[in-house]
Amino acid sequence: MKPKILIIEDNEQNLYLITFIMEKNNFEVIQARDGLSGVELAAKHRPDLILLDIQLPVRDGYSIARDLRGNVELNTVPIIAVTSFAMVGDREKAIASGFTDYIEKPINPETIVKEIIKHLPPGDPELT
Ligand code: MN
Repeated sequence: MKPKILIIEDNEQNLYLITFIMEKNNFEVIQARDGLSGVELAAKHRPDLILLDIQLPVRDGYSIARDLRGNVELNTVPIIAVTSFAMVGDREKAIASGFTDYIEKPINPETIVKEIIKHLPPGDPELT
């Protein structure tokens, strides 16, 4: 089975780019454009990993990460923050909100797959 990744991102260009890269690398991608539908889709599809934008409409990624961590069935899924907030203290705030790791925008197509794969179980034969 392909690893399943949920991308929660409101910026269409970023969503398109990350989806393109991940599908090219043999991931199944589920898309959400706001946090609440992201939480619903996470509960429904049980992704292997969640990429979560910080700047989202209505409720930000920190708040959504806490919701995801409050669901016992989603408690162990890696959640990676994707954000342009490259400020001192953001990493600490992200970890405190339940994020596993942190990727900075702009997305680097050369490194994002490696950044993601390191949070998945090793040796998945489907991964290129
Ligand atoms: Mn955003």
